[in-house]
Parts: sequence; structure tokens; C-alpha cells
Amino acid sequence: MTAAPSEKDLAPLGRFPEEWEAVLAELGEPRYRAKQIFRWVHRRGVFDPRSMSDVPEALRRKLGELGLRAPVEVLSVHRSSDGTRKLVLGLLGGARVECVLIPMTRLEDADAAAVVEDEDESGQEPVSHPVRRVTLCVSTQYGCAMGCRFCASGRAGLRRGLEAHEIVAQVLVARAYLEPGEELRNLVFMGMGEPLHHYDRTARALCLLLHQEGQNFSPRRITVSTVGLVPGIQKLGRDFQGKIGLAISLHAPNDAIRSRLLPMNDRYPIAELMKALREYPLPRRRRITIEYTLIAGVNDAPEHARELGRLLSRIPVKINLIPMNRVDGTDFEAPSSEAVARFQSTLTGLGFSCFVRTRRGDEVDAACGQLAMRPDLVKLGTARPE
Ligand code: SAH
Repeated sequence: MTAAPSEKDLAPLGRFPEEWEAVLAELGEPRYRAKQIFRWVHRRGVFDPRSMSDVPEALRRKLGELGLRAPVEVLSVHRSSDGTRKLVLGLLGGARVECVLIPMTRLEDADAAAVVEDEDESGQEPVSHPVRRVTLCVSTQYGCAMGCRFCASGRAGLRRGLEAHEIVAQVLVARAYLEPGEELRNLVFMGMGEPLHHYDRTARALCLLLHQEGQNFSPRRITVSTVGLVPGIQKLGRDFQGKIGLAISLHAPNDAIRSRLLPMNDRYPIAELMKALREYPLPRRRRITIEYTLIAGVNDAPEHARELGRLLSRIPVKINLIPMNRVDGTDFEAPSSEAVARFQSTLTGLGFSCFVRTRRGDEVDAACGQLAMRPDLVKLGTARPE
């Protein structure tokens, strides 16, 4: 990562061990404490210095004075009958964001959340695991500035981007809501917000999550989804050598339809986006995920599928079809199941890997495009893991 950290990034929870070293040196503390503190926060998810048992009392007090404390509070947990859990989180300063734990079904698991390649480290075939794999969908902004017409997240515009540590904290906090036998396997930056809008913060959050002394995520288990901000795609590819999974919200096979759905298309039209995808330094055997929300009568006809096939013919992709989820206040409607099946079979027939993303969590408004600033969903007092 090339970006210099902003002062806010250096909020204690977002510090790397070497940044802690500088702070500790000023306090006259030994360097090795830096790693200890980083591990408490980023490996164990302990934010309160009073619980850092191998740190001396006096330093714990100083850390408290420096502002080391939980950056988020779990305001409520909404559980869907499919096992999806949506956590509504309150951030310091009043922002509210959501993240969603999504247990993988067998089918999705075989396709590793339909997002990441799933051979193990040795490059062997996928192995079967007794554990239940869970994907966490995290938010990167409070609100969103992209204004996609069929998405609830951007309705009220952008309030603010999240700091790197606030993105990471979603992962640390959500772990407490895993059930016995579940493993947090994949992270997708597909919650509220556009991850590449505040690129530097997202990149810093990624570096924290990849850090060996912290969560130690493998980059291919993290996928960043973007509406198609070309400069951000280029930077992500460069800074992480293409190893972070990339998902593109394409949703249309041509500029006319795409601009109608995604205003950002006027800024970065399809040809430019496709060029960025062709140039993304994708490792061997990896593919870019194309997200395509199917909307009745807008982009769900067989000719759209064929046009999409031509557009993507020379790019290593897998296609995720998302039948449009209900969002109040739009005229857009979900496609018929026949249209979805036809669209999928057209693309499969053209040789693409094409999956239909099963609708998860929509009872609790946790499905794609439903994460929004809804104060009515915020209930205090139900915040403990069961
Ligand atoms: N801003 C990023 C991250 C959001 S990911 C991006 O655009 O990729 C959320 C995904 O759900 C995006 O692909 C988005 O376009 C899609 N989506 C938004 N509203 C939806 C809806 N009502 N039904 C189905 N998918 C939707």
C-alpha cells in the first residue's frame, strides 16, 4: 500500500505494530509491547486495555487515555430463518452500519461463496470440511454516494466513509456471533457503501486484515465489490498484485441500460471498465466476479444475456445473477423465475460459469441492496450473542 495514513487512520485501533512502536517509544515503553497490543486487538478482538492481561497496569491505563476502546457497539442482531444474521452497529459519532453473517449452503460452499476460488494452499482440489463456512459482508461507508437506482443503500446519499479500523472492527465483532462449528471463511466488501470511493481507507483495512499478527486472512478470501470506479480498480490491482478478489457490479450489457441503472456509468463507461478488467493482474486460475442484478423488463431478456456474453468473452469471469430484491420506492421489479433460468442457461450455453445468488436474509432486510439507514430497525438491548 502506498498511501500515507491520515491522522484519523491512526486512531489506536487502526495502527500497525510499527506505528505502535513509535507511540510506545514516546511513552518510554519497550518495542515488543507494540506487537502484543496489536495482537490483542487484531487477533483476539479485545479492544479494552483493561483486559490485556500481559500488559502492565500502568501501560493499560495509558492506553485507555490514548483512546483505545471499542469503536463499535452492537445495537441489535436480526436473525433470518436461513441462518443469516444481520448486525446493526453503532459507531462513535452516531453513524450506524450493518454487516451480515451468511452461512454458506452446500452449493455455494462448493463455489466458495460464488466469489473465490477454493483450492487449498497446496493447489489441490477442494476438500470437504466438517465445519460450516460463513461469509461476512461488511460495510465501508455510512450511506453511499453512487446513487444506483435500484439500491436502498444510497437513498440518503453519503454521510461518511468508515475509517479503516471501523471496517476491520466489523470482522472482529462479528466473530462473537459465529455459532459452534462455524468458521469465518470469506469476507466480502459488499455491504453499504462503495469500497473504492475512499480507496485509502479500504486499502488500509485490507492490510490490517491480511496482517500475520492479526486476522491473517488470505487475500483470495477477501472480495472487494465495486460499482466500477476505474482508478480504484487499477490501484487495488497494483497495491495487492491482483490477489484480492474483485467483483464488479455490472448489471447491464451496454451503456444505454447501465447508465439508466447506475449513474456512475457516465463517468466510467463500459469500454473503460472492460479495459480495466482486462488489465487487472489476476493470478492464474482466478476469475473476476461479475454481479448482474436481474430486473424485470429492463435487463433480463435472452438478447441481453447474449450481448453480455459477447462483452465478457475475453475476460476470465464468473457471473453471479442476483434476482432484484424488493426495495421500497422504486418501480423496478424482480424478474420471473423463468427469465432467471433462461438468462442463466443462455450464459451457461455460451460456456460461462454462471450462478444465481440465492436470496439470503431478506426477511431482515439484509439481502443485496437492502442495507439502508433505517432507524426503525435499530433496537437497543438485544445485543448479546446467543
Ligand atoms: N458499491 C459496491 C458494493 C455494494 S455490493 C458495488 O456496487 O459493488 C451490493 C450489490 O448488490 C451490488 O452488486 C449492488 O448493485 C447489488 N444490489 C443493489 N441493490 C440491489 C437490489 N435491490 N437487488 C439486488 N441486488 C442489488
